[in-house]
Amino acid sequence: HAKASGKNNYKYFNEELNELLKFRIQQERELCSAIKNKEFELFLQPLVNSTDESIYGFETLLRWHHPSRGMVSPDQFIPLAEESGLIVEIGHWVMFEACRIARDWIDAGHDTFKFSVNVSSIQFERQDVYQLIKDALEKYAVPAETLVIELTETAIMTKHSEKSGVLQSVRKLGVKVALDDFGSGYSSLSYLRNLPVDYLKIDRQFIVESRDKSEVRSIINAIAIMAHALDLTVVAEGVEKPGEARFLNSIGCDLIQGYYYSKPVPETEALQFVRQWRQFCRALRVLRRQDE
Ligand code: C2E
Ligand code: MG
Ligand code: MG
Ligand code: MG
Repeated sequence: HAKASGKNNYKYFNEELNELLKFRIQQERELCSAIKNKEFELFLQPLVNSTDESIYGFETLLRWHHPSRGMVSPDQFIPLAEESGLIVEIGHWVMFEACRIARDWIDAGHDTFKFSVNVSSIQFERQDVYQLIKDALEKYAVPAETLVIELTETAIMTKHSEKSGVLQSVRKLGVKVALDDFGSGYSSLSYLRNLPVDYLKIDRQFIVESRDKSEVRSIINAIAIMAHALDLTVVAEGVEKPGEARFLNSIGCDLIQGYYYSKPVPETEALQFVRQWRQFCRALRVLRRQDE
């Protein structure tokens, strides 16, 4: 009896694996044609100055409008794109599209915002990212100062010296570099000193845990002090509640990003957000003056 069920289990396992493989191969094929079918879109999420709550810039976040499954989030397809190597082509599209957006916004009179682009570690290894950035900036005549590239710790740490060279030349162009998801990997504050980065983005998980753990708030404070000592701009991601924003402001965190201000939204909605945010800030100033 046991033997029979064992065989059944094995068969079941085989079918399961088969299904998974089929799904993977299909998804890879779909991913492959997504660019030419124009199924990708960059959403924008604002980064807000913690002191005066003015908008500093936007992070570009990739969305896949799948013909039958609807909107697919990057966590569900970036890993596959990396394994299959498609990330190079996708990353290429993302960089040019981000610069296209920057150009359109500058033309519309929004010439102070920075736009950040996520670059995966695999993309960084397989592609001449320096040339890619140069080409994209040139095509749309976007000032290098407008662009920030975001890399995770693991992306920077593997083949560190080689990458440092590339990052140095990218920074020489005037492009800024952000260390994304800081604290999610094997972060050590001491190695930060040697990294060619300008911004440190504290991982969302810290913000989540800061809600009910005072020791996590102390760690966030320590990270901010250390980062400032190294002349880095500190960004908190995943801020959802006013209390979190207040705490981060009180410890001198420079920029705040999260649902508290806005979720990532399509480009036209982001433009609307900018207009409404300005009106809102103006109204707030008037009210405060009346209060005095
Ligand atoms: P990330 O670069 O750390 O981006 C921040 C993620 O946190 C985004 O998820 C954003 O929507 C989410 N987030 C921001 N504020 C909040 C909040 O208040 N609450 C919650 N629950 N989440 C918040 P998203 O857009 O799903 O992207 C996930 C990851 O996928 C990104 O993490 C990034 O690593 C990767 N990714 C996104 N776009 C690209 C891209 O164009 N290229 C590459 N290589 N990777 C990308
Ligand atoms: Mg990012
Ligand atoms: Mg991040
Ligand atoms: Mg993250």
